[in-house]
Amino acid sequence: MSEPAEICSVCKGWEWSGQQPNYDHIHPVRDLPEEQDFGARLVMRGFAAGFAGLEGEGVSQTWVFFEDLEPALTFGRVGQMSGYDISGYGVYAAARDICFESESGQRVTTLHVSIPALNDEAAMQDAFTQQA
Ligand SMILES: [Zn+2]
Repeated sequence: MSEPAEICSVCKGWEWSGQQPNYDHIHPVRDLPEEQDFGARLVMRGFAAGFAGLEGEGVSQTWVFFEDLEPALTFGRVGQMSGYDISGYGVYAAARDICFESESGQRVTTLHVSIPALNDEAAMQDAFTQQA
């Protein structure tokens, strides 16, 4: 059985992990887990937009997973235009990992986030020119 997020050292060790109801864990990684869809584990690779407002004023650190880069970049960029509720964002290669633990019957969802962020100017250009 995995540790709950509130005592997980990996979640606690990264200031941008945050806590939200749709993920049990948010973990920064160098290498993402491989995609898989068999047995008790489903891993999908994609991209995650992480965003937050100023401490005490805006939204708490929140993560949203996308299968494709372009919508993740657009989502982050548009969210930041709020200025009040969202003051910063990052877009990262990510993997959404759902594990069904047979002993506890619990479903544990982890977002693995590959650092560093992708939303620099070069990445934005690449993502948007590929659409043309
Ligand atoms: Zn964790």
